[in-house]
Amino acid sequence: MRAIRRLTVRTVLPEPLAPLGELMTNLRWSWHQPTRELFAAVEPRVWEQVHHDPVRLLGEVPPERLQELADDPKFLDRVRSLHEDLQRYLTEPRWYQENDGELPAAIAYFSPEFGITHVLPQYSGGLGILAGDHLKAASDLGVPIVGVGLLYRYGYFVQSLSREGWQQERYPISDPDNLPLTLLREADGTAARVRIGMPGGRTLAAAIWLVHVGRVPLLLLDSNVEENGTAEREVTDRLYGGTGEHRLLQEMLLGIGGVRALRVYSRVTGAPAPEVFHTNEGHAGFLGLERIRELTEEAGVEFDAAMEATRSGTVFTTHTPVPAGIDRFPRELIEQYFGGDNASRGVPVERILALGSEDYEGGDPGVFNMAVMGLRLAQRANGVSQLHGQVSREMFSGLWPAFDDKEVPIAAVTNGVHSPTWVAPEVMTLGEQNGSDATALTSGDWESIVARIPDDQIWSTKRLLRQRLVEDARARLRASWRQRGATEAELGWIDDALDPDVLTIGFARRVPSYKRLTLMLRDPDRLKSLLLHPERPIQLVIAGKAHPADDGGKRLIQEMVRFADDPEVRHRIVFLPNYDMAMALPLYPGCDVWLNNPLRPYEACGTSGMKAALNGALNLSIRDGWWDEWFDGENGWAIPSAQGVENTDHRDDLEAAALYDLIENEVAPRFYDVNRDGVPSRWVELMRHTLTSLGPKVQATRMVREYVEQLYRPAARAGHQLNSDYDGAVELARWKQHVRSVWHEVVIEHVESDTTGVFELGESLRLRVFVFLGSLTPDDVDVQVLHGRVDESDELRDPHVTSLTVTESYEPGRHRFDGDVMLDQTGAFGYTVRIVPRHELLGNGSELGMATLPH
Ligand SMILES: *Cc1c(COP(=O)(O)O)cnc(C)c1O
Repeated sequence: MRAIRRLTVRTVLPEPLAPLGELMTNLRWSWHQPTRELFAAVEPRVWEQVHHDPVRLLGEVPPERLQELADDPKFLDRVRSLHEDLQRYLTEPRWYQENDGELPAAIAYFSPEFGITHVLPQYSGGLGILAGDHLKAASDLGVPIVGVGLLYRYGYFVQSLSREGWQQERYPISDPDNLPLTLLREADGTAARVRIGMPGGRTLAAAIWLVHVGRVPLLLLDSNVEENGTAEREVTDRLYGGTGEHRLLQEMLLGIGGVRALRVYSRVTGAPAPEVFHTNEGHAGFLGLERIRELTEEAGVEFDAAMEATRSGTVFTTHTPVPAGIDRFPRELIEQYFGGDNASRGVPVERILALGSEDYEGGDPGVFNMAVMGLRLAQRANGVSQLHGQVSREMFSGLWPAFDDKEVPIAAVTNGVHSPTWVAPEVMTLGEQNGSDATALTSGDWESIVARIPDDQIWSTKRLLRQRLVEDARARLRASWRQRGATEAELGWIDDALDPDVLTIGFARRVPSYKRLTLMLRDPDRLKSLLLHPERPIQLVIAGKAHPADDGGKRLIQEMVRFADDPEVRHRIVFLPNYDMAMALPLYPGCDVWLNNPLRPYEACGTSGMKAALNGALNLSIRDGWWDEWFDGENGWAIPSAQGVENTDHRDDLEAAALYDLIENEVAPRFYDVNRDGVPSRWVELMRHTLTSLGPKVQATRMVREYVEQLYRPAARAGHQLNSDYDGAVELARWKQHVRSVWHEVVIEHVESDTTGVFELGESLRLRVFVFLGSLTPDDVDVQVLHGRVDESDELRDPHVTSLTVTESYEPGRHRFDGDVMLDQTGAFGYTVRIVPRHELLGNGSELGMATLPH
């Protein structure tokens, strides 16, 4: 029989156990092993049954057991001491507090998904896990971030397989009452609400759930509230489900509702208002519109000035060089939702449309582009690896047509991963036994710690982790086959599937086409011979979800599953359904090699290889994303890329062949080259080098520090200058308008320099540039020399930029600028000059996208 209504009855903890409540609702437990051990001790069997979910644990443990623990002084001591430890963690000064200088009092971090722990399945893949790691690292560093996202009732789907190997999707309900969430309430106890206007006089309302991620609060908006109509209640039903319109509603709630939720949060808790707004990809871009609306409608600032004030404190991170990965809406949809009877007085729909329009060469006039709006509403932007920064500068260069790609103002901060989450407890213990402590992970001297661990200990730990993975994989395989309709009697072979002593290669990721799940199947016979090699076999553990609407991706999964179903190889290659954080945690440490073969340069960063590296797995990867930056020739292997070969089939053939060769000739021989004690010491050498060369770099704390120093701090400074009384913003907006309207008058009339003879290294070249500025003054412009090496066609390669100074104003509007250029390189040298707008409140010279060059 089916229940007509469901509700949740929460356990009441006996008074002495009350501190357990906070230990459970603060998700710090997800990266704090001693707290997890405490939960396990409540009732080990139940802890396993509820898949390490503390809230469910409390729901399942019988009250008698709780009473028993409440009377157990030893257990109470543990609870008390862990609770004190948490209090210390939450309040003591950390890195941020020891920093001086103008640091923002709060930073809002918006993301459509957050992957913090498997018990809160509010993520689909890398973007969400990164957001989770960003919050955790911010917490560890004491950075005052407030996260903003949506609470999806059905999260992302659970993957299983049909008998034929076709992906099946299931959406189990995430009941907020069974999740580590607290409802944000007004002082009078009523649930806090945000509301945003919809066309036709309707309203979209949402509740605000609060998640404690260590020191960092995360606000999740939930439209499943009674005052909403059915359609509005479904806005936060699924992550990345539904139509474009559904997605637009989600993004309106995230951006606009998110800013309103932050205001409620500050009002209710007294928390400082954010000074910097960081948007993780374009999905939350409407937050800028809401902040402009606040300023125009509530503070009486004019639109252009409000936009300057908003931009100054906004940071936009782009995450994908795949055009299909960027959010674009039909313009009419934006008109429908932001115009007509839902238009806002202070933010006219034409201005909104202009912000997202692809009004550059090759753009589509019919679409509204969220990334483009993101870039226009943020004074600071970045990609997520050095290579991705470069690719993004090319990709968005249309927005800055007067500048070379290199000068497009998109910087790069390479992603990192939160090591306390991703380093296996066994690896942590190995470090501790050899003199490291928990803080050494992020700040310690990796070199000396790793050097102290004996080879045989490294190797026996790896064996243990491989064994764990094999056991986990077998259990998953069995469950999957049962689900696919097999009987227990047919599954005896699973007891011997995978081998804890065979070279184990992992490959798990979402399945968009650029990640090339099936590249390894290019030559099935060759792969078979590697799997079944008599002395040096390999085994492959594969996982990945395809987006529910992506039949191409599902076909790739099916192809992979069919190959792995073959009785000849099924003990050496497995496809495990439902890749998520719970699978990822034992997977990375259990692998010897982590494989990645994307189509370069579409992998913006990639982070799974970093997590694998922190657990002593060696990367075997195309040089894309982070690997392009940090592969040093000895910390793994680079699969040669055939980038430039236009025929993709041929390119796949070439890259697959290179992959097989590497495995056969380099990877496997090294792995199986063991000494008398059974330890492959040359392999262990690579593991050591991987740990010491990558360990300190791949940290999310390194990443968050870079965000603070390179983006948040400057954004807060710029924001202060413009926001304190808005005079600065008004001034800047007027100045920009004026400069734009008269820029066509600006001309470089004449350039003089000594060009006689040959120059010697170390000499300098004197330049005189005569310009006509019309109604602009010399203070409004930067007259620059771009100088450096030139190629055969006189193109400047990586030019340096030197600003000249005004020395003479000889006629109305006519000025002379002078300066010296050091000749610090031998060989062919060239220069050119240009004029760009200059103002102390601009982020950089390319901000207005205007430059004047000589004729
Ligand atoms: C780390 C992680 C990802 C992202 O990995 P990429 O290398 O960026 O593809 C995806 N899913 C899970 C569960 C992860 O832990």
